[in-house]
Amino acid sequence: MSNYKDKYEMVIGLEVHAQLKTNTKIFAREGCEFGKNPNTETSTVTLGMPGVLPVLNKECVNMAILTGLALNSTIPKHCKFDRKQYFYPDLPKGYQISQYDEPICQGGWVQISNKKIGITRAHLEEDAGKLVHAGAAGLYGSSYSLVDLNRAGTPLLEIVSEPDMRSSEEAREYVETLRNILRYIGVCDGNLEEGSMRADCNISIRPIGQKEFGTRAEIKNVNSFRSLVRAIEYEFIRQAEILEEGGKVIQETRLWDDNSGVTSSMRGKEDAHDYRYFPEPDLMPLEISQEWINEIKAKMPELPNEKMERYQKAGLSEYDASVIVNQMELALYFDKLLQKNVDAKTASNFLTGEIAAYLKEEKISIEDSKLTIDNFVQLLDLLKKGIISNNIAKSLVVEILKTGEDAKILVDKKGLSVISDESSILPIVQKIIADNPEQVAAYKGGKDKLFGFFVGQAMKETKGRANPQLLNKLLKQELDK
Ligand code: ADP
Ligand code: MG
Repeated sequence: MSNYKDKYEMVIGLEVHAQLKTNTKIFAREGCEFGKNPNTETSTVTLGMPGVLPVLNKECVNMAILTGLALNSTIPKHCKFDRKQYFYPDLPKGYQISQYDEPICQGGWVQISNKKIGITRAHLEEDAGKLVHAGAAGLYGSSYSLVDLNRAGTPLLEIVSEPDMRSSEEAREYVETLRNILRYIGVCDGNLEEGSMRADCNISIRPIGQKEFGTRAEIKNVNSFRSLVRAIEYEFIRQAEILEEGGKVIQETRLWDDNSGVTSSMRGKEDAHDYRYFPEPDLMPLEISQEWINEIKAKMPELPNEKMERYQKAGLSEYDASVIVNQMELALYFDKLLQKNVDAKTASNFLTGEIAAYLKEEKISIEDSKLTIDNFVQLLDLLKKGIISNNIAKSLVVEILKTGEDAKILVDKKGLSVISDESSILPIVQKIIADNPEQVAAYKGGKDKLFGFFVGQAMKETKGRANPQLLNKLLKQELDK
């Protein structure tokens, strides 16, 4: 199997559509919640009735500005909306209101681990409805299509990147980072499977060393991180094989099929002039004052990279910090713990260890578990005071996640507190020594490692409750006799 990566380099630019988490649509006042009964979230505006006028939802503009600021973009004082004409049955007006040459966000960048990915622009637009193709195939046979206009008019922010990515991994990291930012600032729930975040992927290849970009193909229908990586890798090989055979890649839109794992041609690439863009006459241009921008800036929550830094300063490793930051619910939970002055490193060990494993297995988020902040703080306190051992705390946290039982009551009820009095541990130590003459002889003969064996036996006997320092002391004392 030849690997074309020694010969060609890929160039990737992404267009990410983020559905803004507003209560109502971008130009109409009905809701846009996912999963409602078909055509229940519509109005005369969405249906494109004659004589109706769009009214811009201010919240969409607020969210676009917030996003622009988080992506280091410039928010121009002036922007406008344009009409993009095309016929499609799920777009009753016959045109989409979008932004063409004067978008709300210009320029910017997103930091991924090894570089900055440039942002070209981000613009506001309305989504189309959904077509459901049903019935058997056949020319005018029993096949038919249904249209659901609930999604029509849902606000989208299209974020266009520069062609700065050079591998599927960089593309993946870019989308993950972007998704995290959008979720933390609360503008998009970032659900790729439900389509609230969609990435169109532009990819071209060029011989290594060549400056000019090759001709790109745009891949649509990529709806998970896994398919993003697979689609890019597939497309790289497809284009390399064309060039190897002396052919030319054509500019076109291709569809990714997750089942077969291939892309196929959907349509030739249209040019901007095909859409006959012109300024939307039903909407005023948008003037955004510096005061407005400042107002939004003041509400900017802590961004994921800032959280990463803060956690590392609090003593977490880069890896642990990233595990927490990459799961927003976990991070918000962790922040509440930190407010209660728990030891950051200890709390994070539980969160990234037993707790993360449990949540993953149960497929729930920490909020859906029964581990309240106060109860967790109590458990950490029992550990800190030496009342319970680390291992006991670890098994208790899993139990509390399930049952929600009070940590202190649980420790008392089950008698799990650490045994710290000599009179209880000494007989156990003596018994173990008496029961294992061979090991004792070997230990005395120089096999120091056997000390761990005796500790293990004593822990087994006490169900992990022996105070480790005291146990070590007594074992040494008795063995050295
Ligand atoms: P359009 O609006 O027609 O899709 P744009 O110029 O806005 O075209 O580019 C869309 C995306 O394609 C951008 O993310 C850009 O970075 C990317 N892109 C442009 N040229 C190339 C190329 N040769 N190879 C890969 N990506 C490209
Ligand atoms: Mg495009």
